[in-house]
Amino acid sequence: MSAASPTLDMLRAWHAARPEIYAAFDHYTHELIRRGFTCYSAQAIFARIRWDMDQPNSSGGSTFAMPRDYFDQYAKKWMAENSEHAGFFAAPAAATAASEHSPEMLKHSSSCRSCGKKLFWMITHNHRRIPIDFDSVDPSKEMVWLAGDPLYDKSAGHITHFTTCPNAEKHRQ
Ligand SMILES: [Zn+2]
Repeated sequence: MSAASPTLDMLRAWHAARPEIYAAFDHYTHELIRRGFTCYSAQAIFARIRWDMDQPNSSGGSTFAMPRDYFDQYAKKWMAENSEHAGFFAAPAAATAASEHSPEMLKHSSSCRSCGKKLFWMITHNHRRIPIDFDSVDPSKEMVWLAGDPLYDKSAGHITHFTTCPNAEKHRQ
């Protein structure tokens, strides 16, 4: 497994090591809601968290490094836990998880050429594209997107089409 790319495990580890960041994200989001906002930019909230929490390193530079991929994940996590505000972070990537008919979901879907079943294309930790049964992907569940591709996560219930296609032998050749 590549050490360079963020994975779901890495995201979880990152979050476990810095729970105060999500707590701050939740706090500021509720503050925005109290002020009357119905949608906002997750990136703007992270800019404020960075301003609050950043510490200079020995040469006076920033030490707050949060991978860009994680912003959307935090926004999705928050919306999943606060379903009454499901559209609050409507940035293009964050909005994609909300509906299976969103452009982002459709862009990654197709039909199996041998059995016709609807597929959803994901990538593995090794960056291999694999077909997943579309209906095994719950769009309301946390899904990690890496550089525009959804990451296959067996623990989230994603089922590879290789195991369900009646003609699997044919397209494995
Ligand atoms: Zn098939």
